[in-house]
Amino acid sequence: MAGQAGMEQVMEAERTAIVQLEEGLHARPAARVVQFAKGFVSDIEIVKGGRSANAKSTVKLMLLAVKEGDEIVIRARGEDAEAAVEGLAAIVTGEADAPATPAAREEAAGAAPTALPAQEPAAPGELVGVAASEGVAVGPAFVYLPHEPQPRRTHIAAGEVEAETLRFRRAVEAVCAMLERRSDDDDAAAATAADIMAALRDVAQDPEFLEAVEARIAAQEDPVAAVLAVGRELAERFTHIDDAYFRARAEDVRGVARQVANVLLGRDGSDLAALAEPAILVAGHLSALDLARLPLRLLRGLVTSEGGPTSHIAILARSFGFPAVVGVKAEEAVLRAARTVAVDGGRGVAVVNPDPAVAAAYAARLEKAEEERRALAAFTHVVPKTRDGRVIEVAANLGSEAEIDGALGFGAMGVGLFRTEFLFMHGRTLPSEDEQFRIYARVVKAFRPHAVVFRTLDIGGDKALPGIAPEREENPFLGWRGIRMCLDRPHLLKPQLRAILRAAALGTARVMFPMVTDIAEVRAARAIVDACRQELAEEGQETGPLEVGIMVETPAAALCAATLAREVDFFSIGTNDLTQYTMAADRTNARLAHLNRADHPAVLAMIEMTCRAAREAGIRVGVCGEAAGEPAMIPRLLGWGVSELSMSPSLIPRAKKIVSEC
Ligand code: PEP
Ligand code: MG
Repeated sequence: MAGQAGMEQVMEAERTAIVQLEEGLHARPAARVVQFAKGFVSDIEIVKGGRSANAKSTVKLMLLAVKEGDEIVIRARGEDAEAAVEGLAAIVTGEADAPATPAAREEAAGAAPTALPAQEPAAPGELVGVAASEGVAVGPAFVYLPHEPQPRRTHIAAGEVEAETLRFRRAVEAVCAMLERRSDDDDAAAATAADIMAALRDVAQDPEFLEAVEARIAAQEDPVAAVLAVGRELAERFTHIDDAYFRARAEDVRGVARQVANVLLGRDGSDLAALAEPAILVAGHLSALDLARLPLRLLRGLVTSEGGPTSHIAILARSFGFPAVVGVKAEEAVLRAARTVAVDGGRGVAVVNPDPAVAAAYAARLEKAEEERRALAAFTHVVPKTRDGRVIEVAANLGSEAEIDGALGFGAMGVGLFRTEFLFMHGRTLPSEDEQFRIYARVVKAFRPHAVVFRTLDIGGDKALPGIAPEREENPFLGWRGIRMCLDRPHLLKPQLRAILRAAALGTARVMFPMVTDIAEVRAARAIVDACRQELAEEGQETGPLEVGIMVETPAAALCAATLAREVDFFSIGTNDLTQYTMAADRTNARLAHLNRADHPAVLAMIEMTCRAAREAGIRVGVCGEAAGEPAMIPRLLGWGVSELSMSPSLIPRAKKIVSEC
C-alpha cells in the first residue's frame, strides 16, 4: 500500500504473521525485534488482538505478551515501510535472524547447588543463614544496604518543568552510562552480567518509560516521585501478565526506576561502585542491576539477608569460588554495623565483627583448609583404586560450562551430574536446542574419554523457574517437579534430549532423569529418547550411543529399585533428596539439619537397597549427592558396590585419597 502526504511520499505497509518463535516475544526476541525496527525511519507497530504496540519499544512489545502461535499484524508508515514489515515478519516467523543482542545465556556461570543445611548448631554470636557456597573467609566487610529513594517533595512549580525534564533526561543518560560499564572479567559470569545490563539499558531507554515520566513532570510532578510512580505502574503491569518470564521483568523496571531516582537525588544509588578492595559483601536484597555492577573478582565472601541457595548471587558465588551465606536472619542494624565479617559458607553461618579469638579461629581454619588443599594436590591426577584393585570414577558435579576448567584442574574423571537447570535459570529466556547442544558438546569434548551424565531439567522444589514451574505450590518439594513436569512439557524435554543425543556423537554422554518415583515415568521418558533419536536420524543429524539412567532420590525409587534396574543402564543415587524424603525433613531448613544426614540408618538402608538391586541386575550405580564427597560415607558406599562418586570439584582430590586407602 502506498499513499501521499504533502510533497513527500509516505509508504504504508501491513501484513499478518504467525509468530514462530518458541518463546514468543519475550525479553530477548523482543529486544531483537526492537533493535531491528530501530534501523528503520518508519513508524512501526505490532498489533495483537486489537491492542497495538510501538515496535521500537521493548517494554510495550513485551506488554503485548505475544506467544508462539499468536497471529499478529505488522504495520509500518514511512519511506522504508515495506522493507520494515517484511524484515520484521521474517524475524517473527523465524525465517531470518535479526542482529543478536548479547546472548550469553549458554555461557551462564552457574555452579552446582550444594544447598547444604547448616551442619552444626550455630555457636554464640553466629548468624545463621542458608549455605550457598562453601569455604571460609574472614576480613573487612563492605556493607551495601542502600536506603529506598524518597522524593523530597511531590510537586514542582510550572517554571521548573523544563529544567526538571532536562535533569530527568540527564539522570537516565547517567544510568545508561553506568550500565555500559564494561567488566574486566571476560568469562561466562561477566557475559551473563553484560546480558543483564543490556536488558536494563533497554528498559531505561524505552519510550514507554521515558514518555510516561515526562508527561508526569509536565503535569508538575516532582521527577523523583514521577519516576518511582512510573516504575511501580509499569512493574505492576508486568506483574499481571500471565507468564512468569514477563512477570520477572517487573524487578528490572523497578530497579531502573530506583536507580534513576537515586541519581536525581544526587546519590550514586549504588555504593557498589565504591567497592575497590577485596572484601566480604554484606547486603540485603541484590537486584539484577546490583549483580551486573558487582566487581565479583574482589569478593572474598558474601552475607545477605535475602535470597536462597539458587538465587543468582549464590550461583555466581559458587562459580567464582567465594563462600556465601544467604538469607541470614539478622536485624538490619546488626548488618549495617559490620566492619569485619567471618563467614563459613559450608555451614551457612557468619559472625559480624568477630572478636579477636573468633577471627583468629576462622583465619586458622582458612589456613588449615589451604594446607589440606596443598597436601591433597598429589592425589589430583591419580586414577584411584581401592586396595582390592577396583578403579573408582571420581567425577564432578557441574552446572555450567564455566566450571569445566576448574573441575579438570581438580582431577575430575568425567561429570557424574550435569545439572542442566542452571542453564535454564540463569538467563532470561529458555535455551534453544542448538544453544544447549553447543554447551553439552563442549562439556562432552572437554572430558573425553570420560563420561558426562546430563540430568534432564530438574525444576521445582527449591529451584523455581519463572515461566516454567509454578511459583507457588503448597508443598513444592512434593510437587510438580523433575521428570513429572518434563513429561508434561515435551516442548522442554525434547529439545534437551535431542541436544544430548547430538552431543553424544562427540564423546561419551549419558542421560538421567530426576525425581523418578514410578516405572511408568521411566518408560515414558525412554520412549521420548527413542522418538528423538528417530527424528534426528530422519533429519540426517548425527547422534551417538546414549546410556539412559535414573536418579534414585525418592524412597519410592529405592524401594522399587529391583524393578527399575531392569529398565535402565545405570542408577545415580541423589542422597540430598533421598535424605530429605526419607527423613521427611526439608533440606533447606537449617533447623532440621540434624535430621538431614545421609548417614542416618534409614537413609543408609535406602542406599544399600538400591546398590543391591543394581548389583543383582548387573547395572552400574553411582552417587551424586553430597554424601559422595563425605569422607565417612565413601568406604561404605564402595563396600556396597558404588563405582562412581560425583561431587563438587574441590572435593575430588580428598575423595581420591580416601578411595586409595579403602
Ligand atoms: C540429590 O538430590 O542428591 C541431587 C544430586 O540432586 P539435587 O541436589 O540437584 O537435587
Ligand atoms: Mg535431587
